[in-house]
Amino acid sequence: MEKQLVIAIDGPAGAGKSTVARKVAEALGYLYIDTGAMYRALTLAVLRAGVPVEDAAAVTSVVERCRVDLQPGPNGNRVFLNGEEVTDEIRTLAVSNAVSQVAAIPEVRQHLVTQQRRLAGAGGVVMDGRDIGTVVLPNADLKIFLTASLDERARRRYLETRALGHDSDLEEIRRNLEERDRLDSGRAVSPLRIAEDAVVIDTTDWTVEQVVTHVLRLCRRRLKECCTE
Ligand code: C5P
Repeated sequence: MEKQLVIAIDGPAGAGKSTVARKVAEALGYLYIDTGAMYRALTLAVLRAGVPVEDAAAVTSVVERCRVDLQPGPNGNRVFLNGEEVTDEIRTLAVSNAVSQVAAIPEVRQHLVTQQRRLAGAGGVVMDGRDIGTVVLPNADLKIFLTASLDERARRRYLETRALGHDSDLEEIRRNLEERDRLDSGRAVSPLRIAEDAVVIDTTDWTVEQVVTHVLRLCRRRLKECCTE
């Protein structure tokens, strides 16, 4: 049987990670895991509990009582918080504005990283996030770092949010992305950074199809190398 790769896709918000990861997983018949959705689901639980995100101890105690499950869905992962589907609710601006503070808490990360490693199993998986190639799956067979200019990322997120039927303001989205970039890159634990062995792709001027084709080419090359190793 052909080897099943472990593929890590990292990068800043709005760089196209989830779309690309999902399409690559589909093409290869692999499992797609959206780790950002897991942080978002825990953040929703924290907001619902009315706990201030600055209070790390209180956040941790909420998070420790939460179970997040992912299921394959038509447009990416369906997300469940303690059995309740929250796929749409985790995409609101309220969650987007709080998630990076929740994700900076070491206990929150520990809670999810163990689960993420278990989900990656023996391979046949595409996982996207911020620390997948550096911390969660440092031995991944292929590591991709997707990026794009802030303006282009904001534009893409704006169109996406509108397509979902949510109210959307380009300037507000731009501010949210910029702030999340700052928090995600500056935090002490597992900051967003490029793994030494990652392939960096700047997608600013690329279509989704071009990026997917390029990544699939890298996957096939890696599969060939793995056969001869
Ligand atoms: O991928 P998405 O933009 O939905 O992720 C939401 C937030 O979750 C990120 O801005 C980041 O703060 C956090 N995150 C993380 N580590 C990951 C995935 C997401 O810290 N592996």
